[in-house]
Amino acid sequence: MSEQTATLFINGSWLPSSSGETRTIYCPADGSEVGVVSEATASDTEAAIAAARASFDSGVWANVPAGERGDFLLKVADEILARKDAFARAEALDTGKRLVEAEGDMDDIISCFRYFGKIADQHPGRLVDAGDSSVISRIVYEPVGVCGMITPWNYPLLQAAWKLAPALAAGNSFVIKPAELTPHTTILTMQVFEDLGLPAGVANLVLGAGGEVGAPLSSHPDIDLVSFTGGLVTGRKIAESAAKSVKKVALELGGKNPNVVFADADFDAAVDNALNAAFVDSGQVCSAGTRLIVQDTIAEKFVDELVKHAENIVMGGPFDEKAETGPLISKEHRDKVTDYVNRGIEGGARLRVGGNWGGPEHEQGYYYAPTILDQCTADMSVVIEEGFGPVITVETFSTEEEAIALANHTEYGLAGAVWTSDRGVANRVSRAIRAGTVWINDFHPYLPQAEWGGFKMSGVGRELGPTGLGEYVEAKHLYENTEPAVSGWFPR
Ligand code: NAD
Repeated sequence: MSEQTATLFINGSWLPSSSGETRTIYCPADGSEVGVVSEATASDTEAAIAAARASFDSGVWANVPAGERGDFLLKVADEILARKDAFARAEALDTGKRLVEAEGDMDDIISCFRYFGKIADQHPGRLVDAGDSSVISRIVYEPVGVCGMITPWNYPLLQAAWKLAPALAAGNSFVIKPAELTPHTTILTMQVFEDLGLPAGVANLVLGAGGEVGAPLSSHPDIDLVSFTGGLVTGRKIAESAAKSVKKVALELGGKNPNVVFADADFDAAVDNALNAAFVDSGQVCSAGTRLIVQDTIAEKFVDELVKHAENIVMGGPFDEKAETGPLISKEHRDKVTDYVNRGIEGGARLRVGGNWGGPEHEQGYYYAPTILDQCTADMSVVIEEGFGPVITVETFSTEEEAIALANHTEYGLAGAVWTSDRGVANRVSRAIRAGTVWINDFHPYLPQAEWGGFKMSGVGRELGPTGLGEYVEAKHLYENTEPAVSGWFPR
């Protein structure tokens, strides 16, 4: 077994899979080989859970003062910054996204570690007034215990960082399983933890297929909390499996996010951001603004302008300096997006641009051209389902009430946006949209200090912000009677 294939990190050691199996990772931009990693088994996951359990129960990390845990996270941020080129390159090769986008992701990851490093000691507990001078009542916050973390392929390390940073800040031990297609930056992060001296067993990494390697993280009795980011179907399975041992469950699932444009919006900014909203990372973004809901008086002009821009978007691989967007993650995913668009057209949507795999120069990768479908209605599958590709569907409205009704016509509730120059409209519509994040005259920005998560079927719980740290602690009430006395409840 070559050293290269010992990529599981369990109890402080780099190990091959117990089965000896490996998985080759290919760049979706051109099918080139990126690396070979260990393909774990369910028993490797169990070994990782046992290591995390033992480390947690020993108190080796949980008992480190919270401020020192925060200092550790600040050092992690510095170290990722120092290794940023290697991290960004690894992320770009695994996902096929442009290097410049991967570099931006690394900046966000560094900010996330910094934020949780700074607030690690901000769960100091509180005194409670028991209404009795002989009683000292207080709330203390303790780590949840052993956390299972399962992450997707679209923002591999960013989604992991949103879990790793608060979990470590709060003193937990964990086992993480990244998406099988995009393991490399999570491996690099474990190397940073190891280099900075995180005690063995606190951080554990297993790699491989969800059903085999990930499943024990939602079913094993020694896992106290499972935090999952990914699709709705998998999220449901994880919640069902976690229910048997009544684990805490955090779910960050999909979205079908409305982008509502009123006629009085800044036209050029709204057009530009409607493109960003839907086509960044080829639409493989949980918060992508795929449902364009535009006021009927400007709809034709607005969509014509979008189409004009969309047909000029240049697709290319991570290091193609002319590229403006990249490929989809895999052939299977491109087949799904193709089927999703075709069903939309069969259902009555009109294809305005895209709907193809690009030119001959794109044949080696899994590209799908930016696509706009207009004449859509709320009952079409293409408007209802999360396609997770570069696709905008266009619906129109005439009144504010219609705009709100269309925006909320979805089982999801992750994000949305409203574009208008009327602050009253902006306020009413943004408050009426049932989603965890609503942008006003913008799309996509998020802040590590602001909560992120879904209403409705977009998830359970929140990441980021103080609530994101709160997911990884348990509140304990300590009630101390300083003057114990016979209660007389059962007189003797
Ligand atoms: P996915 O659900 O297919 O896979 C996500 C992870 O779950 C992977 O690591 C996979 O191996 C694992 N998995 C699969 N089956 C499993 C099982 N039975 N038990 C345990 N683990 C299992 O999702 P994906 O295709 O990787 O990612 C795309 C989805 O993620 C989209 O729906 C997107 O909207 C969502 N997403 C949501 C957010 C958010 O913040 N809400 C962020 C990014 C992505």
